[in-house]
Amino acid sequence: EQPQTTFKRVMLKISGEALMGDQGYGLHPPTVERIAREVKSVHDMGVEICMVIGGGNIFRGLAGSAQGMERTTADYMGMLATVMNALAMQSALEELGVFTRVISAIRMDEVAEPYIRRRAVRHLEKKRVCIFAAGTGNPYFTTDTASSLRANEMACEAIFMGKNVDGIYDCDPKTNPDAKRYDRISYDDVLRDNLKVMDASAIALARDNKMPLIVFSLNEPGGFRGILAGEGTYTEVHA
Ligand code: UDP
Repeated sequence: EQPQTTFKRVMLKISGEALMGDQGYGLHPPTVERIAREVKSVHDMGVEICMVIGGGNIFRGLAGSAQGMERTTADYMGMLATVMNALAMQSALEELGVFTRVISAIRMDEVAEPYIRRRAVRHLEKKRVCIFAAGTGNPYFTTDTASSLRANEMACEAIFMGKNVDGIYDCDPKTNPDAKRYDRISYDDVLRDNLKVMDASAIALARDNKMPLIVFSLNEPGGFRGILAGEGTYTEVHA
């Protein structure tokens, strides 16, 4: 029996590191495939899906600039890394029979569609998974901000942030057995307590547009679908 959800259109944000498995770098194809199956199971429920994938498994602008590279150049390299991840996810999803579009914030027409809002909305209506690549297209931003921006532009009902823990804790649950998970917390409290969820500009964009954020674990098989059906543990961040 198919689980039910009330969500019609959602944004899934995952970091680049979620695709590297136990490796220290790059893409781990079985892990990419596992996440693609999670996405497919939600797609099978009839939900329209937007995705933003980070690039930290390949390149981060800050790391490049710390090594002496010019910051904006390093950030463009980071954005290109997200395109590679998006293409890997596209390939894995289409292998499972899910139609997708990679939509890039930086034009590279041979590789991906340019971002045109109305066209992206049309893809969603036709049940194509839209993978938004190259972040916002601007240096000094992150893919968290890109997920917040695109979620608003696409009128998603919420951002689902897949992590390796099942929500936001008051301290690191990996090192502190007494760490407490929040069921619900406001964006203002996340900012005030400096909880590591998204960067401040991504939070401000989500908060000011009343976009809910659901932080959940991508490690549980069926986790994404479960969360959408109202099962499992997670943290909801509200405006
Ligand atoms: N980036 C950028 N502008 C954006 C999105 C990303 O300059 O709008 C660059 C930035 O250098 C960043 C890198 O792309 O370090 C990879 O993205 P991010 O760090 O958000 O990836 P994640 O940590 O989610 O894997």
